[in-house]
Amino acid sequence: EQNERDSQFIITDFANKHFQQNLHSHEQGNIGQAYLKERGLSAAIIKKFELGYSLDAWSDLTDAALKAGFKQQYLEATGLAIVKDDKRYDRFRGRVMFPIHNVSGRVVGFGARTLKSNDKKSPKYLNSPESEIYHKSNVLYGLYQARQAMRMQDMCYLVEGYLDVLSLHQGGIDNVVASSGTSLTDGQIKLIGRYTQHITVLYDGDAAGIKASLRGIDLILENGLNVNVVTFPEGEDPDSYIHKVGDTAFKGYVQQQAQDFISFKASLYAADTKDNPVKKAEAIREIVSSIAKIPDSIKRSVFFRSCSLIFDIDEQVLVSEYNKMQLQDR
Ligand code: ATP
Ligand code: MN
Ligand code: MN
Ligand code: MN
Repeated sequence: EQNERDSQFIITDFANKHFQQNLHSHEQGNIGQAYLKERGLSAAIIKKFELGYSLDAWSDLTDAALKAGFKQQYLEATGLAIVKDDKRYDRFRGRVMFPIHNVSGRVVGFGARTLKSNDKKSPKYLNSPESEIYHKSNVLYGLYQARQAMRMQDMCYLVEGYLDVLSLHQGGIDNVVASSGTSLTDGQIKLIGRYTQHITVLYDGDAAGIKASLRGIDLILENGLNVNVVTFPEGEDPDSYIHKVGDTAFKGYVQQQAQDFISFKASLYAADTKDNPVKKAEAIREIVSSIAKIPDSIKRSVFFRSCSLIFDIDEQVLVSEYNKMQLQDR
């Protein structure tokens, strides 16, 4: 219902302003400021992305909102306040706040990072729950700030986390979004597809990042978009790597390392396939299964050709493998 949605937008906007005020004007704000500085973020980026801070207190936001005349009901509906055993308290406490905007620039929810580096008790990131205005599977962090650059450059970088988005922007790479809070969805790819048909995946250089890249590739191909992949050294993510090597070297690295999904998958399995025909056959089958996701038959045939060259195998063999898969899927 429209009234409910409007009320939720108004309260998230109030919270967004409140968290920013905390960061910039409250005495506790310097804790958040110090953290962001340590993460290498400039004042300009903090402003541009409207970063904030939730005080280390039970009900700072709730108290301020009620005092300003807002209803408890909307604090709860947007997940900003939690009610448990008749106790009311703020969901986000003592965290750096990342407001998540929809494409029109309205705040729909928040991501929130703890300042503690390894506290097993509380999760590193907390997210707003689903609400009338926040549907995680249809929101991308940074899209509001990236959308013009995505259209201009006809390409979108896809990263895992909030800090990756912020650090790349700071380094002059504006066309970057994150699927924060969920694993990549069809809805998010369709959202990117409004601006560009080209996605370059920049996921973390760890096992989870590789696994997510593989899943992302198939999802992107299925949606008819084109995908390239850049991998990072073990233990690095785009945020840590751009700080390590600097903006210019980072851009060079991304340019140089970007490969299409076939080369990415081929190199992923390359160590295994050397002089091992069984492993090689498995790798080829893996790649054909990704090619099979592509709806466009001309694109498919281009990729069959490139796969046949990389593995030095007859194109017709790949096509017949593809045909077999099609039969099995029915
Ligand atoms: P940082 O650099 O601040 O440590 P990160 O973005 O590199 O964070 P990752 O562990 O790589 O963190 O996770 C990638 C993304 O996954 C995060 O930005 C966040 O959106 C989400 N995420 C990570 N940990 C959690 C968690 N415990 N709960 C919910 N979401 C999480
Ligand atoms: Mn990771
Ligand atoms: Mn990461
Ligand atoms: Mn990181």
